[in-house]
Amino acid sequence: MAGLNRPKVIVVGGGPAGSATATHLARTGLEVTLLERAGFPREKACAEYCSPGVVDAIDELGALDHVRARQHRDLSQMRIVARGPRLTLDFANQRPGANPALGIKRSELDDALLRFAEKNGVRVLERTRVSAPLTRGNRVAGVRARTREGEQTFEADFVVAADGLHSTFARSLGLEKSFRWPRRLGLVARFRGVSEPVTGGQMHIADGVYAGVSPVGEDEVNVSLVVPMGSKPPEASTAEFYESTLSQVPGVAAILSGAERMSAIRGVGPMARRVRRCAGPGCLLVGDAAGFFDPLTGEGIHRALRGAELAAAAVAVALQREDRMPVGYEAGRDAQFNDKERVCRLIQGMLLSTPVLRYAARRAGARPEVRDNLTGILGDYTSARAALRPAFLWNLFRP
Ligand SMILES: Cc1cc2nc3c(=O)[nH]c(=O)nc-3n(C[C@H](O)[C@H](O)[C@H](O)COP(=O)(O)OP(=O)(O)OC[C@H]3O[C@@H](n4cnc5c(N)ncnc54)[C@H](O)[C@@H]3O)c2cc1C
Repeated sequence: MAGLNRPKVIVVGGGPAGSATATHLARTGLEVTLLERAGFPREKACAEYCSPGVVDAIDELGALDHVRARQHRDLSQMRIVARGPRLTLDFANQRPGANPALGIKRSELDDALLRFAEKNGVRVLERTRVSAPLTRGNRVAGVRARTREGEQTFEADFVVAADGLHSTFARSLGLEKSFRWPRRLGLVARFRGVSEPVTGGQMHIADGVYAGVSPVGEDEVNVSLVVPMGSKPPEASTAEFYESTLSQVPGVAAILSGAERMSAIRGVGPMARRVRRCAGPGCLLVGDAAGFFDPLTGEGIHRALRGAELAAAAVAVALQREDRMPVGYEAGRDAQFNDKERVCRLIQGMLLSTPVLRYAARRAGARPEVRDNLTGILGDYTSARAALRPAFLWNLFRP
């Protein structure tokens, strides 16, 4: 019989991937316990930009009213600036009346999604750090965790690891794989009192560095900076490096002149990671735990939420099987995410050469069919396959 420390399913981590997976599972009537190491609300190093496709996924989860009840900004467009040439992705124009993009602090978004999971019957234990999976034979059968009461063992029929970029779970099972490129450092902070109104999201790209601006409140913007690992001189403090690098990005420097930094600078590096496998007997990985590429094209939260849908369906399959194998999960993820990942790699390749990037931004801005395709793909609401067709690439690069 399922007892307090023997739920059917354990979810490790209460970010968007964990909360959404737990909600989907609890709705099917399963007993679900979510273990989260932090006390919520907690901060997370993020550019705090949710694409329209993220908002669609939150809407389909049924949590949009809960999220929108928190402080946020609706963003009707995203502007990409490549040292001069600009490309505006106008979501409102392309999908009138549909969900816009959203700027929202992760402390608010993640807390809203975790409370929504709780409301749907998930038992949430905060300040509970999972230290290792519990195995029986060749299958995962629970976790060991440090709780407020001390070390505890939680047995379960299935474990979903949604413990983020530095997943303890994936590492303990030896699933991590080395990742050579890109190796980047991300630094983020929030500011008040910006010199000009920022109405949409912005991404400024040049010389292998990029900086995002995302409004997250009435008078508050998130400014993220991504640079190659190792470019911070050892003698410079993180704050000196962050501020001096941003002062060299013209569009961002203009916005920030006279603004006041309201938060600590949070950093993550290297950001990209990969895993050998993201499913095994009795367990699966979802969200960043299953791999993360780069935040340039903003698809992290989207993958977390859409991955959660696939994860919940795969857990249902696994619970019907003796070996608890979530059959079909990895193939489902490949089908859903591989095209967008290839497009991201293509864009990352362009990032290596400012002249190529400027050329592409100018051409895309001037060619409505290319711009429209990119708007939907980078907005996470149309399939990325179109951008991999030779005709699209020819349209983008032809003189
Ligand atoms: C600099 C930067 C900027 C980004 N900007 C954007 C953006 O603007 N838009 C976007 O869509 N994506 C962005 N991303 C990516 C996005 O933040 C992630 O893809 C997203 O947070 C993944 O969600 P998740 O639930 O998998 O992981 P997380 O949000 O990291 O949640 C994991 C949770 O697990 C908990 N946890 C970790 N270890 C344990 C443990 N041992 N026991 C229990 N709990 C544990 C953590 O406390 C955390 O709450 C950015 C990433 C970076 C690095």
